[in-house]
Amino acid sequence: MLNVGALREGYVLDHIKAGKAMTIYHDLNLDKLDCTVAIIKNARSNKMGVKDIIKVECPIEKLDLDILGFIDHNITVNIIKDERIVEKKELRLPKKVTNVIRCKNPRCITSIEQGLDHVFFLADEEKEIYRCMYCEEKYRGKRNK
Ligand SMILES: [Zn+2]
Repeated sequence: MLNVGALREGYVLDHIKAGKAMTIYHDLNLDKLDCTVAIIKNARSNKMGVKDIIKVECPIEKLDLDILGFIDHNITVNIIKDERIVEKKELRLPKKVTNVIRCKNPRCITSIEQGLDHVFFLADEEKEIYRCMYCEEKYRGKRNK
């Protein structure tokens, strides 16, 4: 069981791959939010050996599940209210991600025009393939795996 005693309202991200908590911390812009964040590294896990956990105390609407689903949809999201888990959210691959990954195609308009949003859409859900909205270049980077 998770110890969530200190959290009144917020969420706990569980089953984060060990070593990935800081990446997720930045990708979710938690460093820019004015809320309490606890990062637990290398927690013991029956399922994973070791894992990272992030606890965030803030209004839950501020959590961007799309970005999280994109990074790793195996993460468990526990929604906390009044110090209890009231809901577990399933993550899925988002249909679209904006400004999370960048297009590497040098001829893509996003490489030429600096101010443009980097938008990728889910082209193949089964194979987990994302393509640039502008040039359809396939995203070949790793999604934090
Ligand atoms: Zn592109």
